[in-house]
Amino acid sequence: MIVSLKSGADAANVLRELTGRGLWVSRVERSTSGGAVHYVIAPHSQPADPEDLARIDGVAEVTTPKPAHPLVSAQGPVVDVGGLPVGADKPVFMCGPCSLESEAQVRETASVLSSLGVAFIRGGAFKPRTSPYAFQGHGDVALEWVRRAADATGMRVVTEALGEGHVSTVAGYTDLVQVGSRNMQNFSLLKAIGKTEKPVLLKRGMAATIEEWLLAGEYLLSHGAKGVIFCERGIRGFDDSTRNLLDIGAVALLRYVHRLPVVVDPSHGLGRRDLVAPLGRAALSAGAAGLMIETHPDPASALSDGPQAVPLGELGSLLGRLVSTGEAR
Ligand code: PEP
Ligand code: MN
Repeated sequence: MIVSLKSGADAANVLRELTGRGLWVSRVERSTSGGAVHYVIAPHSQPADPEDLARIDGVAEVTTPKPAHPLVSAQGPVVDVGGLPVGADKPVFMCGPCSLESEAQVRETASVLSSLGVAFIRGGAFKPRTSPYAFQGHGDVALEWVRRAADATGMRVVTEALGEGHVSTVAGYTDLVQVGSRNMQNFSLLKAIGKTEKPVLLKRGMAATIEEWLLAGEYLLSHGAKGVIFCERGIRGFDDSTRNLLDIGAVALLRYVHRLPVVVDPSHGLGRRDLVAPLGRAALSAGAAGLMIETHPDPASALSDGPQAVPLGELGSLLGRLVSTGEAR
C-alpha cells in the first residue's frame, strides 16, 4: 500500500499516525518533481483500511499497487501433492538422507519412515556440493532406488533437480521437485521445472530477500508448476556457531502475511543434529506446514552432511518431541 502526502504536509506527523496503527513503513520515496513524499507500507496479516489512512491529515491518496507476483499471491496456503494437502492442519514431514547412497540404505530408510507415518522420503541423486571433489550423487540410478522404495511403502518422493539437463528425468521419478538453495535464481532452471507441471519445493537462496524468493515462485507458477511450497533452510549469518541462520520470522511472514505454505529445514538451517528438535518446534509454532529433516541409518558413514543427520533409529523419538509439549531436547 502506498500513502502519498499532500505537498507541504507534516510528514513526521503522518509517519507517527501510521506507525501508531502498528504499520511497518518499509520504504520512503520522494518524487523528484516537487519533493512529494510517499510512504510504502509492507503487507500485514491484517491489512490496513485504506479509507482510514486516507483520513489522516496531510494524506493526498492511498493506493494499492498490483502485486509483483500475482500468481503467488493468489495461490493460497495449501498445495496438493499427489492427493496430500501440504499446508492443511496436519504437519507434513519430509525425511531421509542428504544423499541417496545405496539401494539398501534407501530401502531401510523408507521402511522406518513409513512405519513412523512420514509422508515424504527425501534424498539427493544429484548433489549441489561446494567442492567439485566432494561426492556428487549417484545420479539416475538413485532416482530408481528412491521411487521403488517409496512405491513399496506408500510414500511420496521429494528430490532435487540440479540442472536443466535432467529436469524431465527427475520429474518422472518424483512427486515434488526440489529446487536447491543455490539454484533459487537459476531462471532457466525454474522455467524448465515449471513446464513439467509438477508441484515444487522451492528452497530459499542463502542470500535471498523474501521478495526475491516470492518472485522465484512466480517464475515457477507462470511456467506451469502445479503449486509452490516454499522451504526456509537458513540464510548466511555472521556467526559460525551454526551452519546458517534459520529465519523463523520469514516463516511467520510467509504463512500469516502472504498466506503460503512453508516447510522448514532445520537440518541445513543449523547444520547440527542436536538442535533439530527445538528449532523444528519453533518452526511449527511459527506456522510451518511441515519439516524437512535429514536422517541416516549410520550418520558417521554418511557421504554428505553426517553431522546434521539424525540417526534413523532416533527419528521416531524426535518426531514425538516435535509435536509434544514437554522439553524439546
Ligand atoms: C538438500 O536439501 O539436499 C540441499 C542440498 O539443501 P540446500 O539446497 O538447502 O542447501
Ligand atoms: Mn544435506
